[in-house]
Amino acid sequence: MAQTFQIEGVDVRGRLVRLSASLDAVLDAHGYPEAVSRMLAQTLTLAVTLASALKYEGIFTLQTQSDGPISLLVADITSDGAVRGYARFDEARLAEAVKADGAEVPRLLGAGHLAFTVDQGQDMERYQGIAALEGATLAECTHHYFRNSEQLETAISLSVRFDGEARHMRAGAMMVQRMPHQKNADEAESEDGWRRAVALLASLSESELLDPSLDSDALLFRLYHEDGVRVQPPQPVFHRCRCSREKVATTLKSFPRAEITDDNGVSQVVCEFCKADYTFAAADLDALFDGGDA
Ligand SMILES: [Zn+2]
Repeated sequence: MAQTFQIEGVDVRGRLVRLSASLDAVLDAHGYPEAVSRMLAQTLTLAVTLASALKYEGIFTLQTQSDGPISLLVADITSDGAVRGYARFDEARLAEAVKADGAEVPRLLGAGHLAFTVDQGQDMERYQGIAALEGATLAECTHHYFRNSEQLETAISLSVRFDGEARHMRAGAMMVQRMPHQKNADEAESEDGWRRAVALLASLSESELLDPSLDSDALLFRLYHEDGVRVQPPQPVFHRCRCSREKVATTLKSFPRAEITDDNGVSQVVCEFCKADYTFAAADLDALFDGGDA
Protein backbone atom coordinates (compact mmCIF):
# COMPACT_ATOMS: atom_id res chain seq x y z
CA MET A 1 0.00 0.00 0.00
CA ALA A 2 0.98 3.61 -0.49
CA GLN A 3 -0.08 6.29 1.94
CA THR A 4 0.18 10.06 1.88
CA PHE A 5 0.67 12.08 5.05
CA GLN A 6 1.21 15.65 6.04
CA ILE A 7 3.06 16.85 9.09
CA GLU A 8 0.97 19.45 10.90
CA GLY A 9 2.16 23.02 11.17
CA VAL A 10 5.16 22.61 8.86
CA ASP A 11 5.32 22.52 5.06
CA VAL A 12 6.25 18.86 4.86
CA ARG A 13 4.44 16.18 2.95
CA GLY A 14 5.32 12.51 3.06
CA ARG A 15 4.70 9.10 1.54
CA LEU A 16 4.80 5.73 3.24
CA VAL A 17 4.93 2.63 1.06
CA ARG A 18 4.93 -0.94 2.33
CA LEU A 19 4.86 -3.86 -0.08
CA SER A 20 4.89 -7.63 0.30
CA ALA A 21 2.36 -9.70 -1.70
CA SER A 22 2.68 -7.50 -4.79
CA LEU A 23 6.49 -7.91 -4.74
CA ASP A 24 6.22 -11.67 -4.33
CA ALA A 25 3.83 -11.81 -7.29
CA VAL A 26 6.24 -9.85 -9.52
CA LEU A 27 9.29 -11.86 -8.43
CA ASP A 28 7.59 -15.28 -8.52
CA ALA A 29 7.12 -14.98 -12.28
CA HIS A 30 10.88 -14.61 -12.77
CA GLY A 31 12.79 -16.74 -10.25
CA TYR A 32 15.78 -14.37 -10.27
CA PRO A 33 18.85 -14.84 -8.08
CA GLU A 34 18.46 -13.16 -4.69
CA ALA A 35 20.67 -10.16 -5.52
CA VAL A 36 18.57 -9.38 -8.60
CA SER A 37 15.29 -9.87 -6.70
CA ARG A 38 16.47 -7.45 -4.02
CA MET A 39 17.44 -4.78 -6.54
CA LEU A 40 14.19 -5.20 -8.45
CA ALA A 41 12.21 -5.02 -5.18
CA GLN A 42 13.95 -1.71 -4.41
CA THR A 43 13.18 -0.42 -7.92
CA LEU A 44 9.51 -1.37 -7.57
CA THR A 45 9.25 0.21 -4.13
CA LEU A 46 10.90 3.43 -5.30
CA ALA A 47 8.61 3.54 -8.33
CA VAL A 48 5.53 3.25 -6.10
CA THR A 49 6.90 5.90 -3.72
CA LEU A 50 7.77 8.44 -6.42
CA ALA A 51 4.58 7.80 -8.37
CA SER A 52 2.46 8.37 -5.26
CA ALA A 53 3.91 11.89 -5.02
CA LEU A 54 2.77 12.81 -8.55
CA LYS A 55 -0.60 13.74 -9.95
CA TYR A 56 -0.98 11.74 -13.14
CA GLU A 57 -3.32 9.47 -15.04
CA GLY A 58 -1.33 6.83 -16.85
CA ILE A 59 1.92 4.96 -16.32
CA PHE A 60 4.93 5.90 -14.21
CA THR A 61 8.14 4.05 -15.07
CA LEU A 62 11.41 3.89 -13.18
CA GLN A 63 14.29 2.30 -15.06
CA THR A 64 18.03 1.84 -14.61
CA GLN A 65 20.42 1.11 -17.47
CA SER A 66 24.04 0.40 -16.68
CA ASP A 67 27.21 -1.47 -17.63
CA GLY A 68 27.43 -3.81 -14.60
CA PRO A 69 26.17 -7.39 -13.99
CA ILE A 70 22.56 -6.13 -13.69
CA SER A 71 22.24 -4.06 -16.86
CA LEU A 72 18.55 -3.22 -16.68
CA LEU A 73 15.90 -2.82 -13.98
CA VAL A 74 12.39 -1.75 -14.95
CA ALA A 75 9.40 -1.08 -12.72
CA ASP A 76 6.17 0.56 -13.72
CA ILE A 77 2.98 1.49 -11.91
CA THR A 78 -0.35 2.71 -13.26
CA SER A 79 -2.27 5.48 -11.53
CA ASP A 80 -4.69 2.83 -10.21
CA GLY A 81 -1.89 0.94 -8.44
CA ALA A 82 -0.94 -1.96 -10.76
CA VAL A 83 2.79 -2.72 -10.63
CA ARG A 84 5.04 -4.93 -12.72
CA GLY A 85 8.76 -5.19 -13.38
CA TYR A 86 11.70 -7.17 -14.71
CA ALA A 87 15.48 -7.20 -14.84
CA ARG A 88 18.28 -8.16 -17.23
CA PHE A 89 21.54 -9.50 -15.91
CA ASP A 90 24.63 -11.52 -16.79
CA GLU A 91 24.74 -14.65 -14.65
CA ALA A 92 28.53 -15.15 -14.62
CA ARG A 93 29.30 -11.52 -13.84
CA LEU A 94 26.59 -11.46 -11.19
CA ALA A 95 28.03 -14.55 -9.44
CA GLU A 96 31.41 -12.75 -9.21
CA ALA A 97 29.90 -9.46 -8.05
CA VAL A 98 27.86 -11.13 -5.31
CA LYS A 99 31.09 -12.45 -3.74
CA ALA A 100 32.82 -9.06 -3.87
CA ASP A 101 32.67 -6.31 -1.25
CA GLY A 102 31.38 -2.81 -1.73
CA ALA A 103 28.24 -0.78 -2.13
CA GLU A 104 25.49 -2.47 -4.14
CA VAL A 105 24.88 0.07 -6.89
CA PRO A 106 28.51 0.34 -8.16
CA ARG A 107 29.06 -3.40 -7.59
CA LEU A 108 25.84 -4.83 -9.08
CA LEU A 109 24.68 -2.11 -11.49
CA GLY A 110 27.93 -0.36 -12.41
CA ALA A 111 27.93 2.98 -14.17
CA GLY A 112 24.84 4.20 -15.92
CA HIS A 113 21.67 6.14 -15.32
CA LEU A 114 18.30 6.11 -13.66
CA ALA A 115 15.30 7.45 -15.57
CA PHE A 116 11.76 8.34 -14.56
CA THR A 117 9.01 8.72 -17.12
CA VAL A 118 5.33 9.49 -16.88
CA ASP A 119 3.27 8.43 -19.85
CA GLN A 120 -0.22 9.92 -19.84
CA GLY A 121 -1.33 8.74 -23.27
CA GLN A 122 -0.88 9.97 -26.80
CA ASP A 123 -1.93 13.59 -26.59
CA MET A 124 -0.29 14.38 -23.29
CA GLU A 125 3.20 15.65 -22.61
CA ARG A 126 5.66 12.99 -21.53
CA TYR A 127 7.58 13.87 -18.41
CA GLN A 128 11.09 12.54 -18.09
CA GLY A 129 13.86 12.88 -15.54
CA ILE A 130 17.32 11.35 -15.83
CA ALA A 131 20.15 11.09 -13.32
CA ALA A 132 23.52 9.34 -13.24
CA LEU A 133 23.72 6.31 -10.94
CA GLU A 134 25.67 8.15 -8.26
CA GLY A 135 25.27 6.63 -4.84
CA ALA A 136 25.73 3.46 -2.84
CA THR A 137 22.05 2.50 -3.02
CA LEU A 138 19.15 3.21 -5.36
CA ALA A 139 17.56 5.40 -2.66
CA GLU A 140 20.75 7.47 -2.56
CA CYS A 141 20.79 7.79 -6.36
CA THR A 142 17.19 9.02 -6.25
CA HIS A 143 18.08 11.45 -3.50
CA HIS A 144 20.91 12.83 -5.68
CA TYR A 145 18.45 13.23 -8.52
CA PHE A 146 16.20 15.43 -6.41
CA ARG A 147 19.12 17.44 -5.08
CA ASN A 148 20.55 18.14 -8.53
CA SER A 149 17.34 18.81 -10.39
CA GLU A 150 16.10 21.81 -8.40
CA GLN A 151 13.02 19.92 -7.40
CA LEU A 152 11.56 19.78 -3.92
CA GLU A 153 13.97 19.03 -1.09
CA THR A 154 13.50 15.33 -0.52
CA ALA A 155 14.64 12.63 1.89
CA ILE A 156 14.03 8.91 1.37
CA SER A 157 14.51 5.85 3.52
CA LEU A 158 14.16 2.42 1.87
CA SER A 159 14.58 -1.12 3.18
CA VAL A 160 14.01 -4.59 1.77
CA ARG A 161 14.12 -7.91 3.55
CA PHE A 162 14.14 -11.29 1.83
CA ASP A 163 13.25 -14.53 3.55
CA GLY A 164 15.11 -17.07 1.39
CA GLU A 165 13.34 -20.12 2.77
CA ALA A 166 9.84 -18.81 2.23
CA ARG A 167 10.94 -16.85 -0.86
CA HIS A 168 9.12 -13.88 0.61
CA MET A 169 10.10 -10.25 0.06
CA ARG A 170 9.06 -7.29 2.18
CA ALA A 171 9.92 -3.72 1.40
CA GLY A 172 9.18 -0.35 2.90
CA ALA A 173 9.96 3.20 1.94
CA MET A 174 9.28 6.53 3.50
CA MET A 175 9.83 9.81 1.71
CA VAL A 176 9.40 13.35 3.04
CA GLN A 177 9.36 16.44 0.82
CA ARG A 178 9.54 20.08 1.72
CA MET A 179 6.64 21.92 0.16
CA PRO A 180 7.06 25.35 -1.42
CA HIS A 181 7.39 27.95 1.27
CA GLN A 182 4.17 29.69 2.34
CA LYS A 183 4.34 33.47 1.82
CA ASN A 184 3.74 34.66 5.34
CA ALA A 185 5.27 31.66 7.10
CA ASP A 186 8.30 32.14 9.32
CA GLU A 187 11.47 31.13 7.42
CA ALA A 188 13.36 29.88 10.48
CA GLU A 189 10.36 27.93 11.73
CA SER A 190 9.90 26.32 8.34
CA GLU A 191 13.58 25.35 8.21
CA ASP A 192 13.34 23.88 11.73
CA GLY A 193 10.23 21.90 10.79
CA TRP A 194 11.96 20.45 7.74
CA ARG A 195 15.10 19.50 9.66
CA ARG A 196 13.00 17.82 12.35
CA ALA A 197 11.07 15.82 9.73
CA VAL A 198 14.33 14.61 8.12
CA ALA A 199 15.93 13.76 11.48
CA LEU A 200 12.88 11.74 12.52
CA LEU A 201 12.89 9.92 9.18
CA ALA A 202 16.55 9.06 9.76
CA SER A 203 15.64 7.66 13.18
CA LEU A 204 13.21 5.19 11.63
CA SER A 205 14.63 1.68 11.96
CA GLU A 206 14.46 -1.01 9.31
CA SER A 207 12.49 -3.26 11.64
CA GLU A 208 9.87 -0.54 12.24
CA LEU A 209 9.51 0.11 8.53
CA LEU A 210 9.16 -3.60 7.71
CA ASP A 211 7.25 -4.85 10.78
CA PRO A 212 3.93 -6.26 9.51
CA SER A 213 2.43 -6.07 13.00
CA LEU A 214 3.13 -2.33 13.24
CA ASP A 215 0.21 -0.65 11.52
CA SER A 216 1.12 2.24 9.18
CA ASP A 217 -0.96 4.83 11.07
CA ALA A 218 0.73 3.75 14.31
CA LEU A 219 4.15 3.96 12.68
CA LEU A 220 3.50 7.50 11.42
CA PHE A 221 2.08 8.57 14.77
CA ARG A 222 5.08 7.13 16.62
CA LEU A 223 7.42 9.13 14.38
CA TYR A 224 5.63 12.45 13.98
CA HIS A 225 3.26 12.77 16.97
CA GLU A 226 5.03 15.83 18.37
CA ASP A 227 4.15 18.03 15.40
CA GLY A 228 1.05 16.03 14.62
CA VAL A 229 0.45 14.06 11.46
CA ARG A 230 -2.52 13.98 9.11
CA VAL A 231 -2.85 10.67 7.30
CA GLN A 232 -4.73 9.93 4.06
CA PRO A 233 -6.37 6.54 3.49
CA PRO A 234 -3.90 3.99 2.08
CA GLN A 235 -4.03 3.29 -1.66
CA PRO A 236 -3.77 -0.36 -2.70
CA VAL A 237 -0.81 -1.61 -4.75
CA PHE A 238 -1.12 -4.90 -6.60
CA HIS A 239 0.62 -6.87 -9.31
CA ARG A 240 -0.98 -6.86 -12.73
CA CYS A 241 0.58 -6.98 -16.17
CA ARG A 242 -0.92 -5.02 -19.02
CA CYS A 243 0.05 -7.46 -21.76
CA SER A 244 -2.65 -9.24 -23.76
CA ARG A 245 -2.96 -11.46 -26.79
CA GLU A 246 -4.62 -8.56 -28.66
CA LYS A 247 -1.69 -6.22 -28.00
CA VAL A 248 0.83 -8.85 -29.07
CA ALA A 249 -1.20 -9.47 -32.23
CA THR A 250 -1.19 -5.76 -33.06
CA THR A 251 2.60 -5.64 -32.64
CA LEU A 252 3.15 -8.77 -34.74
CA LYS A 253 0.98 -7.38 -37.49
CA SER A 254 3.22 -4.33 -37.79
CA PHE A 255 6.11 -6.55 -39.02
CA PRO A 256 6.48 -8.48 -42.27
CA ARG A 257 5.23 -12.01 -41.55
CA ALA A 258 8.54 -13.65 -42.55
CA GLU A 259 10.35 -11.68 -39.83
CA ILE A 260 8.23 -12.85 -36.92
CA THR A 261 7.91 -16.56 -37.59
CA ASP A 262 10.25 -19.45 -36.79
CA ASP A 263 11.09 -22.38 -39.11
CA ASN A 264 7.71 -23.96 -38.43
CA GLY A 265 5.83 -20.80 -39.33
CA VAL A 266 4.94 -20.21 -35.67
CA SER A 267 5.31 -16.98 -33.76
CA GLN A 268 6.05 -17.13 -30.04
CA VAL A 269 6.21 -14.04 -27.87
CA VAL A 270 6.97 -14.13 -24.13
CA CYS A 271 6.12 -11.04 -22.06
CA GLU A 272 9.25 -9.75 -20.34
CA PHE A 273 7.24 -8.46 -17.40
CA CYS A 274 5.13 -11.48 -16.47
CA LYS A 275 6.47 -14.35 -18.62
CA ALA A 276 3.05 -14.92 -20.20
CA ASP A 277 3.54 -16.96 -23.35
CA TYR A 278 1.67 -15.93 -26.50
CA THR A 279 1.97 -18.45 -29.27
CA PHE A 280 0.48 -17.84 -32.70
CA ALA A 281 0.21 -20.96 -34.85
CA ALA A 282 0.26 -20.69 -38.64
CA ALA A 283 -3.55 -20.65 -38.76
CA ASP A 284 -3.68 -17.79 -36.21
CA LEU A 285 -1.21 -15.85 -38.33
CA ASP A 286 -3.23 -16.53 -41.48
CA ALA A 287 -6.22 -14.91 -39.81
CA LEU A 288 -4.05 -12.06 -38.51
CA PHE A 289 -2.34 -11.19 -41.76
CA ASP A 290 -5.01 -12.06 -44.34
CA GLY A 291 -8.23 -11.68 -42.45
CA GLY A 292 -8.16 -7.98 -41.64
CA ASP A 293 -8.97 -7.50 -37.98
CA ALA A 294 -7.94 -10.60 -36.06
ZN1 LIG B 1 2.82 -9.52 -19.27
